[in-house]
Amino acid sequence: MSALQDTTALREQIIATCHSMVQSGLVDGTAGNISVRVTDGLLLTPSALPYEQMTPDHICKLALTEAPAPNASPKPTTEWAFHQAVMQARPDVTAVVHAHPPYATAIAIQRRKIEAVHYMVAVFGGTDVPLVDYALFGSPKLAQGVADAVKDRDGCLMANHGALTTGNSLDQALWRMQELENLARMETYARIGGEPVLLSDADIAEVLASFADYKPQ
Ligand SMILES: [Zn+2]
Repeated sequence: MSALQDTTALREQIIATCHSMVQSGLVDGTAGNISVRVTDGLLLTPSALPYEQMTPDHICKLALTEAPAPNASPKPTTEWAFHQAVMQARPDVTAVVHAHPPYATAIAIQRRKIEAVHYMVAVFGGTDVPLVDYALFGSPKLAQGVADAVKDRDGCLMANHGALTTGNSLDQALWRMQELENLARMETYARIGGEPVLLSDADIAEVLASFADYKPQ
């Protein structure tokens, strides 16, 4: 594709995904952000703009390895650094979704990862959804922690902050965010009755092998 790639449809899909995250309770206000890989960088949601005011022109373009210009307008999300770091660490990833969904964030506040409480944990590529150490939002340290966490997983929790998922499409990254919140909610309910019983590594390996034949998404 040429540098003249028409990104209008992608920009509209990013805005539609923002609305969808609000409707499904994954995001309150503007506390979610999205990136999608394009031929010469990534498209990013803007900083602090209410989703209902967002038009395709507000979606920001960022190179894969350069910081945004200080006077960039529109200004990209304050979390541009971890979006960029994930895209650099995972060339196979096309879309990244970040949000502060209540159940997943509550577990991140307890500074726990999500363990193998349900077989659907395998949609994140292994036996758990890892937890990234706390670091200031927008910081290079947070970007590095997130990039490390998703090297072999398609999602992570961020201590006292929220969650992030990846996908080979925006739909898949959004679906994983919903699944992550579902897992966190089920885990929370299960703990009401005591300590959850976890699946073994062998159980999850079997699920992963089955997903190779049948992918839920
Ligand atoms: Zn955040």
